[in-house]
Amino acid sequence: MKTSIPNNRTFAYLNWKQVDALPRESTLLVLPTAAIEQHGHHLPLATDTLINNLLLGHALAKLPAEMPIYALPPVHYGKSNEHIGFPGTLSVSATTFMAVVRDVGASLAKANFKKLVLYNTHGGNTSLVDVMARDLRAEFGLRTFTLHGSGGISFEGLDPQERAYGFHAGEVETSFLLAGIPEVVDQSAYTANYIADITRPELLLPENAPATFAWLTRDIAESGVLGDPHLASAEKGERWLEEAATRLAAALQAMARYSDRQGS
Ligand SMILES: [Zn+2]
Repeated sequence: MKTSIPNNRTFAYLNWKQVDALPRESTLLVLPTAAIEQHGHHLPLATDTLINNLLLGHALAKLPAEMPIYALPPVHYGKSNEHIGFPGTLSVSATTFMAVVRDVGASLAKANFKKLVLYNTHGGNTSLVDVMARDLRAEFGLRTFTLHGSGGISFEGLDPQERAYGFHAGEVETSFLLAGIPEVVDQSAYTANYIADITRPELLLPENAPATFAWLTRDIAESGVLGDPHLASAEKGERWLEEAATRLAAALQAMARYSDRQGS
């Protein structure tokens, strides 16, 4: 797969002697977690992995050269059983996902690394990543951090209906890929599907709400899209990508500088 991670930030391009020479206290390693799962008729299975790579790559490119921050190879497979029934979705169980993250953490701890970031861009992994960050801290003493999606940017210009009810393969994800890897987007194959209209708000939402329902895509979206990609554009994607990269880079630098806060 194409990568946006700069060569000099790619952990797996190092040999073991170079890894051994890295400063253990200050080196910050970033483990991307994503998914291989259906994204409607117009986006590829690897969408979450590609977006992760795009955003992280642009964030890493903004960091001061002297900061020892590296991207680990991504965990491509995520917990995607909300998309079962759509051919191409390759899901792992929660226990498998957590075991892989745990074993990578164990390997890093064994090599005496101290700081690990779990950078996740697939909603189905979110709760597992939060669990694993604490477990790696407790079990191996690793200083662990989590980083999610676009780093909390406001997505200026995003359609209000999409902001409220766009969850998957809609305006945001399509714009990111139009900006970064347009050749993988089939702009002739857009489909749209909303579970509700902002003029008649719903109390129960699929996620990011106080009251949710456990959802399977096939129950609520025949094409696999939960949202609408029609207003997506490369221009929006480039703007959001730049903002997200700036936020993610700031977060990574804060993590690199972080030390225990005991109070005084
Ligand atoms: Zn996605």
